[in-house]
Amino acid sequence: MKYFLSTLLFSSFIVLLFSCGSDHPSRLFETPQDMRLQGINGLDEALALISEDHLKRSLYFLASDELRGRESGDRGNEMAARYIAEDFQGSGLTSGLPSSYFQEFKVDIGNGRTSNVLGLIPGSDPSLKEELVVIGAHFDHIGMRPVIEPDTKDGNPDDPEEDLVYNGADDNASGTVAIMEVARAIGKIKPILNRTVLFIAFSGEEDGRLGSIHYLNSALWPLNKIVFMMNLDMVGRLKNGRLHFYGGRRHALMAKLLADVSAKYPEVQPNIALDTGGMSDHATFIEKKIPAIDLHTGKHDDFHEITDSAEKINYPGLTAITKIALELTWTIAQRKDLPGAQWTDVSLSHEDLELDHGILPFGF
Ligand SMILES: [Zn+2]
Repeated sequence: MKYFLSTLLFSSFIVLLFSCGSDHPSRLFETPQDMRLQGINGLDEALALISEDHLKRSLYFLASDELRGRESGDRGNEMAARYIAEDFQGSGLTSGLPSSYFQEFKVDIGNGRTSNVLGLIPGSDPSLKEELVVIGAHFDHIGMRPVIEPDTKDGNPDDPEEDLVYNGADDNASGTVAIMEVARAIGKIKPILNRTVLFIAFSGEEDGRLGSIHYLNSALWPLNKIVFMMNLDMVGRLKNGRLHFYGGRRHALMAKLLADVSAKYPEVQPNIALDTGGMSDHATFIEKKIPAIDLHTGKHDDFHEITDSAEKINYPGLTAITKIALELTWTIAQRKDLPGAQWTDVSLSHEDLELDHGILPFGF
């Protein structure tokens, strides 16, 4: 029944998209031929490429002790960056930079430098390819810390061999592997996308969003051409289906889209929130007046503890969220009427959303 309802809702969404007049902001494609040309049919093929095994393998590597907690300025962080760059390259993404996949910047810790990793899928529409959709996740974590002796509460800084590794499986190997998997699926299908899609694995987030601040300050892409940013930070602990879309209700079209896409995945109960959530990298984009949301499955006792480990991840949940992220990225890259005033400063009432989609109350 639920599947039937979801299908019905989604079909109504498609019918609505086709039946709207030109003044309606929800229209996605002009004609079925337009739809074919723009590769919407490839979406199902791309979704079929999302693999739970692949997500799990990548996550176990990023959250392994070998990567030493991926702290900015540490060699474990560099290994993670290289791994992500090789994955982007293997998925057929071009570099988002003139010469490499790495955007290096300074930090005050370790060897004093770290890098964001960028991968690009160029858009094709002559009037829209200059516009950018960003999908991001931070890959750094808090590294290694001395063992705290229970009696003295002192660390053991003289013996780094005994340091404990803070693997950061949920925070944020989970979001990192999700964007790598979205990149892989779109990269393999090679659809004709209208807008350009930029994948950014940010570093320096744990030290104050340094990677996203550096990216936006470097103005590699004009800020007014970034139409949307989606951040995934801690998406590995789906519990009771609760997936938060922080900031998703700040934009009426976005709220509708999030509700419509989520309705296809019975594993997920969306909380489409007005609240923009924690200060992860999406906040840096919001500060620059770029519409941005954060996907998040909720804080837990293992946050910033050595117990945030790979075996505690909900892999079927992570797989569903990755598919949702792919579908959102694809749709936003395609729809022609996206930018403009309707994407900012509009909030849909909770009642409107509830009527349409039976969305759960906000909050945990
Ligand atoms: Zn995080």
